[in-house]
Amino acid sequence: MNILFATTEAVPFCKTGGLGDVCGSLPKALAGLGQSPTIIMPAFRQAIESGCPLETTGTTFEIPIGQKQVVGQLLRSQLPDSDVPVYLIEQADYFDRAQLYGENGDDYQDNCERFVFFCRSVLAVIESLDLQFDVLHCHDWCTALLPAYLQTLYSDRAPWNRLASLYTIHNLAYQGNFWHWDMALTGMDWKYFNWRQMEFYGNLNFMKTGIAFADTVSTVSPTYAQEIMRPPLSCGLEGTLQHRREDLFGILNGADYDEWNPSTDRYLGADIYDVASVETGKLVCKARLQREMGLHEDPDVPLLAVVGRLADQKGFDLIARVMQKWVEREGAQWVILGTGDAKYHQVLGQLAAENPQKVAVRLEFSNELAHRIEAGADMFLMPSQYEPCGLNQLYSLKYGTIPVVRATGGLADTVVDSNPQSLAKGKATGFCFAEYTSLALSDTLQRACAFFADKTIWRQLIKTGMKQDWSWSRSAGKYIELYEQTRARHRQEVLN
Ligand code: ADP
Repeated sequence: MNILFATTEAVPFCKTGGLGDVCGSLPKALAGLGQSPTIIMPAFRQAIESGCPLETTGTTFEIPIGQKQVVGQLLRSQLPDSDVPVYLIEQADYFDRAQLYGENGDDYQDNCERFVFFCRSVLAVIESLDLQFDVLHCHDWCTALLPAYLQTLYSDRAPWNRLASLYTIHNLAYQGNFWHWDMALTGMDWKYFNWRQMEFYGNLNFMKTGIAFADTVSTVSPTYAQEIMRPPLSCGLEGTLQHRREDLFGILNGADYDEWNPSTDRYLGADIYDVASVETGKLVCKARLQREMGLHEDPDVPLLAVVGRLADQKGFDLIARVMQKWVEREGAQWVILGTGDAKYHQVLGQLAAENPQKVAVRLEFSNELAHRIEAGADMFLMPSQYEPCGLNQLYSLKYGTIPVVRATGGLADTVVDSNPQSLAKGKATGFCFAEYTSLALSDTLQRACAFFADKTIWRQLIKTGMKQDWSWSRSAGKYIELYEQTRARHRQEVLN
């Protein structure tokens, strides 16, 4: 099958979160299973500066945006270590900016226009490429108009009318909501601006549009697929989602073990380790991390880590409250890497400044450091309010770093709480709690620290986690099945 991935992020071109990991690794896994994926994405400044070789194709196109015509051009590259072609839409006014979606906590004012342009460029490019695509796989709100265009403006013409669409929700909370007059930018008829399709409380809603129009819809874990059917995690879209419940699927993300593997990790240098050498290997990585972060070098103190967007979603209010208590009395070290909301920059920065012996905070985006934290930490905290899938817990399991998570979304699907039964069966891999409170997080951390002190049990937890396979080999095949189903549904719709 020829599958076109329309996305705004793909590692190593650009990434702000899990979307980038998924769109950089799933196509490789699909190619390994005999499929023919192609990626198309905006030529953001990050992608231009990523070091990936880019070439011009000579293809230019003109896109109607409201009353004006905007010119773009097509660049070509390739996903490293694969044959997967990557096309990039270059339009400097829209995409040559400091960030992908906004700066200093504010979205770019013209985001609607930017991503209308991107979506219509994708459709223009489909016509100019020789390849006949079978499925257009769209990712998150920035690409969500594509299924709508296929069903409306482009429905009666080749090559678009044969193209089936799958829309994957990576995070339902980021919807792309714009004032209703932006509808004019889309070029679509106002008749679609209704409560079943594109309109949401008087606004134009991209996420709703994608869900309403795609042949099939998926999200990134089975539990999140259930959770988004009801408030609060439905984020107001429960009606639309319930209407599509027969067409909604939950497929767990995979980890890219070419990138995230302690036995080959290029960011660990000589300190790589595997399941056989984990005990000494982790001690070396832990000591190195403690030195790098300016913490006291001590193998016996539990080293707790967090890497992620500093957003409410990730539970940083709980983390900050627990840290405030723990730095006073508990013997633990904290390493935090993240960027995001100013309030968390402030509170975490202050905690680090006041407790340099126990807390190290890096308010930046550093892939290298993220890898060394996974290798050097004892525990990895993800007390998320909600978590569509979560990737860091999968990386943690691979690195023998015990995840401490709130049992929601993909975290509930991938981490097994340590209790007498799960331990006896050899299935325990981490620590889970249900209630979203700092007390529950603190209690669970205390439970984890008690286990940490028992080297035999801790070793068992580490080894059970490291031996698991959370690579795409579990899930890529499920996507292929879903692509087939998506095509079948599309053919059915065309016949009707
Ligand atoms: P989300 O997509 O909601 O941000 P995920 O857990 O699915 O969360 O994926 C986050 C990805 O982004 C992981 O690969 C994580 O390591 C990475 N990441 C997040 N923040 C940072 C940061 N400050 N530095 C390096 N990597 C980061």
